[in-house]
Amino acid sequence: MSFNIAIDGPAGAGKSTIARKAASRLSFLYVDTGAMYRAIALGLLERKTDLRDSEMLKEALEEISVTIGYDSQGRQQVFLNGEDVSSRIRDEEVGKMASASSALAQVREKLTALQRGLAKKENVLMDGRDIGTVILPGAQLKIYLTAGVEVRARRRHQELTAKNIPCSLEEIEKDIRERDERDRNRPVAPLKQAEDAVRIDTSDMTIEEVTDRIVELARKRMGEERA
Ligand code: C5P
Repeated sequence: MSFNIAIDGPAGAGKSTIARKAASRLSFLYVDTGAMYRAIALGLLERKTDLRDSEMLKEALEEISVTIGYDSQGRQQVFLNGEDVSSRIRDEEVGKMASASSALAQVREKLTALQRGLAKKENVLMDGRDIGTVILPGAQLKIYLTAGVEVRARRRHQELTAKNIPCSLEEIEKDIRERDERDRNRPVAPLKQAEDAVRIDTSDMTIEEVTDRIVELARKRMGEERA
């Protein structure tokens, strides 16, 4: 049987960086589910889909196919109808659309089977918003990664500034608050900590410290499973 690790938490808590590092140290497959929601969002943007028009949404979703693969360095790639869109999905516009479209049940249904299928076959470390609660409720280890809004905004600001992308700290903070609000209050698969998840507040921790803690928890659990 495969060993599954679920990592959930709000935007900017450091999930993807930490999850990638922890997965690589444990030799687990890293599955970034946010990238899948972003790929669908890109497909919807390309089709100029009006999310309020359910017939139009249904047709667009029938045309959209999302798959994932891994490059020679083990990095996840995401394909939209066969095209590698791994960089394009990082645009702000796509992120905004992903935040809105991921609240819709039809969009979530499209990805559930893909995510569960991967976890069944392999030892995966999967990150997202509803992994421990909805997608993999039986995961052997669940982590809820969080950090204060101000800390998350500052991290995002530093990230964009390092890429020479002009941005305002206030606007980023406002945007993060809005995304949290949407993720936590949507009726379908809202962001929340699973009852049996280990909560880690990363506000005052380095990436290395958080990664070490997750790897340590995973090794301990795997040892217990074998015993
Ligand atoms: O994590 P990332 O920012 O790449 O995710 C993009 C969007 O997809 C988020 O705004 C979030 O609302 C949504 N998402 C989700 N469920 C997941 C992963 C991401 O609703 N499992």
